[in-house]
Amino acid sequence: MEQKRTEIAHLGEFGLIERIKNSFSLANDSSHHGIGDDAAVINIGQENLLISTDMLIEGPHFDLSYVPLQHLGYKAVAVNVSDIAAMNGIPQQIVVSLGLSNRFSLEAVDALYEGIKAACKNYKVDLVGGDTTSSPTGLVISITVIGRSEKPKTVLRSGAKVNDIICVTGDLGAAFMGLQVLEREKQVFKSNPEMQPDLEKYEYIIGRQLKPEARMDIIFDLAEKNVVPTSMIDISDGLASELFHLAKNSNTGIKIFEEKVPVDTMTYETAIEFKIDPITAALNGGEDYELLFTINPSDFEKIKNHADIHFIGHMHDNPKQHVMISKQGTVVPLQAQGWKHF
Ligand code: ADP
Ligand code: MG
Repeated sequence: MEQKRTEIAHLGEFGLIERIKNSFSLANDSSHHGIGDDAAVINIGQENLLISTDMLIEGPHFDLSYVPLQHLGYKAVAVNVSDIAAMNGIPQQIVVSLGLSNRFSLEAVDALYEGIKAACKNYKVDLVGGDTTSSPTGLVISITVIGRSEKPKTVLRSGAKVNDIICVTGDLGAAFMGLQVLEREKQVFKSNPEMQPDLEKYEYIIGRQLKPEARMDIIFDLAEKNVVPTSMIDISDGLASELFHLAKNSNTGIKIFEEKVPVDTMTYETAIEFKIDPITAALNGGEDYELLFTINPSDFEKIKNHADIHFIGHMHDNPKQHVMISKQGTVVPLQAQGWKHF
């Protein structure tokens, strides 16, 4: 009998994860929440333990011709911490696994760990272990982070209710536009190595691509103001894709307003220069690592004056209808593109 072969692209990344999730069940009482959120939630008594892991691979995730190793180390930690932030948790420890080819020198590994160390210091996490192995070609860096949160304060993707206000931190689309600039300058340099890359005027958006920050500051601000979001996720794949995750898990519909979506001036101008609609960069760009969350309307007063939290819309009762009201006032159906690795 001929073996059946199905391409993974047929399912996509989310379909594949869904398939794995559906073929396992949780047997231990302590496994409170498994596959399907930014981190797993483990019941360890008084508090919840949070665990998340992220792998970065040379090629699909980064290009060492323009990514400094220090920044890569920093980013690898930051993206993990961001998943703990998305659970309203506090990161505590990381373990770091490396796959190295003989292209990498001791100095290169030192540079990578300098970045890891800077991030550990900034986010107050301890490096407590890992694994080191050889890799046939590129660099692989996989980090697992452990965090904790008080039980009633752990936030899942699934708690949003109808009329909850949709909030987003910082600004969106910058990391994606930064990547476009880096890719363009790489091509220019390849065709003419004499040309000095013109990066200075794009400093902010390039920084957003190379050295993103996890928004732990927002987690502390929310705690101080006694606000527990009803649902939360970090924006790694683009606003639209993450909105779909919150809506699907919470069984709600989305309504956002284009004019409320925060886009930095440099992101806006660079998008125009690249003939990309700025809102497309914000909706589908990815790698911003900002937080997207919902709050009960009764909490609005407490955070309405926060300089870095933006209120972009609300949840409604039709889980099949996800829309954006454009600046012209037209109703645009939202589409979740996200990243397609396969
Ligand atoms: P994030 O973008 O927040 O890092 P992902 O989209 O990578 O989240 O993962 C979504 C969920 O699927 C998480 O709960 C993650 O632990 C789980 N997951 C991803 N890949 C696998 C896998 N190969 N096996 C089991 N669970 C997975
Ligand atoms: Mg996440």
